[in-house]
Amino acid sequence: MARTNFSKKVQREAIKRAAGQCEGLLSTGERCSCRLQVGRFEVDHVVPDALGGPAVLSNAQVLCTDCHDRKTANDRRRIDKARRQSDAHHGVRDPHARPIAGGQPLPPGRPARRATAPLTKSLPPRRSLYSQRSPS
Ligand SMILES: [Zn+2]
Repeated sequence: MARTNFSKKVQREAIKRAAGQCEGLLSTGERCSCRLQVGRFEVDHVVPDALGGPAVLSNAQVLCTDCHDRKTANDRRRIDKARRQSDAHHGVRDPHARPIAGGQPLPPGRPARRATAPLTKSLPPRRSLYSQRSPS
């Protein structure tokens, strides 16, 4: 997938809009108070381009290095999750993956692997260890 980078025009407008302050949101929901320093910020995609976010001003945010690093790690998780969901939706499977106990049911028409052959004969009734039996 080709990356869509912000044009210089959009970058300039985003930087102007930020007015010298990081546009990142902290986990508290407040805006990051970092002053932007030359070479210490990034014009970031709010919605990552890997998730279809367009390279337009409304999808741009100017982030300090700390906010950008945090955002990038978060984006990575979102992108990986989106890929897993897309794979599941399109039936893309790892040919070497083993079914996980208690995990998703196996696709139909594919028998579960067993460590041993399934029992075909029924077992004799269990005897209790504690029952008193007269010797025969
Ligand atoms: Zn920040």
